[in-house]
Amino acid sequence: MEIFSTKEDCCGCTACASICAKNAIEMVKDEEGFLYPHIDTEKCVNCGLCAKVCPVKNNRVEKFTKQKAFIVRSHNEENVNASTSGGFFLPIAEWFIDQGGYVVGVCYDNKLNVIHKITNKKEELIDFRGSKYVQSNLADTFSKIRKLLNSNQKVLFSGTPCQVAGLKQYLRGNDQNLWCIDVVCHGVPSPKLWEKYISEMRTEYESNIKDIKFRSKVMGYHTGNMEIHFENGKHYYNTARTDMMLSCFFGEISSRPSCYHCRFKNIQHVSDFTIYDCWSYSKITGKKDDDKGWTHLIVQSEKGLETFEQLKECYEFVEADIRKGVNLDGSMIEKSAKPHPKRAEFYRDFDTETLSEHVKKYGLITKRDYAIDAIKKILFKLHILQFAKNLKG
Ligand SMILES: Cc1cc2nc3c(=O)[nH]c(=O)nc-3n(C[C@H](O)[C@H](O)[C@H](O)COP(=O)(O)OP(=O)(O)OC[C@H]3O[C@@H](n4cnc5c(N)ncnc54)[C@H](O)[C@@H]3O)c2cc1C
Ligand code: SF4
Ligand code: SF4
Ligand code: SF4
Repeated sequence: MEIFSTKEDCCGCTACASICAKNAIEMVKDEEGFLYPHIDTEKCVNCGLCAKVCPVKNNRVEKFTKQKAFIVRSHNEENVNASTSGGFFLPIAEWFIDQGGYVVGVCYDNKLNVIHKITNKKEELIDFRGSKYVQSNLADTFSKIRKLLNSNQKVLFSGTPCQVAGLKQYLRGNDQNLWCIDVVCHGVPSPKLWEKYISEMRTEYESNIKDIKFRSKVMGYHTGNMEIHFENGKHYYNTARTDMMLSCFFGEISSRPSCYHCRFKNIQHVSDFTIYDCWSYSKITGKKDDDKGWTHLIVQSEKGLETFEQLKECYEFVEADIRKGVNLDGSMIEKSAKPHPKRAEFYRDFDTETLSEHVKKYGLITKRDYAIDAIKKILFKLHILQFAKNLKG
């Protein structure tokens, strides 16, 4: 039995491993640090179910003609500040728990591994806020969700489009009590890169990490920063131009092979809600952008529309034209990212040197990047960065 033939054909969603009644499939790390299904031929009885649930082989997009698009922001200012864009996730997740439901989102474990977790405790929801630009470990999340659904619980799942598609395929129609949010996504770097990054940051700052954010708004929404607070009181923040992890992510050198041939690129998704960054708030609404962050929201289903109707008081929002939003800010909804020409080499000699040496070798951060970031930081410290951004428009 073979489920996929090339790595481009496996997004690592775990649907196959979760469905196998013989426990014949284990998700195993490859040399780049991404998980792929490995079949134990001794246990496999060739039933073919794993291939049937694979969302890459069976990508079914449900056509829903009443899709609606909004630009949204949570009314909770602290939540907007702590979230990546307009903080769409927290209010809807709190509402689910108030209804007696469970929420599944992405957080860090105590070693800073990026994982999917299930909770029905409101106080744990804040850990799910904010994008973590690393492939999350789903482990046995799908089978736990199935158990909850089988006992008539409501579940809200959030993840990448391929994770949502994999979950829906795995459930094979048992999804009346499931609501899904997907984030528009151009790729997921490997957990191995992430481990190397945090290990080097700990060494450089001689401390453990207390708190970390991939897209902090310390310098405003339009100048996102990796921000780290260390236990020894030291503070680090750098933009995507000069932070090692972010430059690998945005430089398109570190994502999973399937991300460069993504089968989930379509404005129609199988989720109920699709969210993505809103960079063009002013162009779309004609109003001033206060640089605090807004989220593009596409409501993808009847169920999604009914739910949004019930909780829209939690958000400031304007209805928007779907096509205009996608054209201005959402190219990654429809197109796969183009890989860096040295993508394969990047992971091939990854273990032979430090990440800083590696980033230098592949020219991911240039002297010009350092100079631009240094100027931005000076403007920020002089409290005139916002003024400069307004001048630039
Ligand atoms: C890997 C990745 C790539 C992305 N790429 C793009 C892009 O190219 N263009 C774009 O416009 N937007 C992209 N996004 C989405 C963007 O970063 C924001 O999530 C979006 O603007 C919504 O912000 P928010 O404040 O409303 O969300 P928040 O309220 O901050 O909620 C974040 C949500 O993302 C989920 N999440 C966090 N990390 C992960 C992860 N590793 N895997 C799966 N789910 C996760 C959380 O569970 C939560 O539901 C990406 C997100 C991720 C996770
Ligand atoms: S063919 Fe059936 S038994 Fe074999 S790995 Fe796939 S699901 Fe498991
Ligand atoms: S895409 Fe998902 S279901 Fe398909 S082979 Fe990969 S892990 Fe299995
Ligand atoms: S780009 Fe496609 S394959 Fe990669 S994580 Fe996103 S949805 Fe999955």
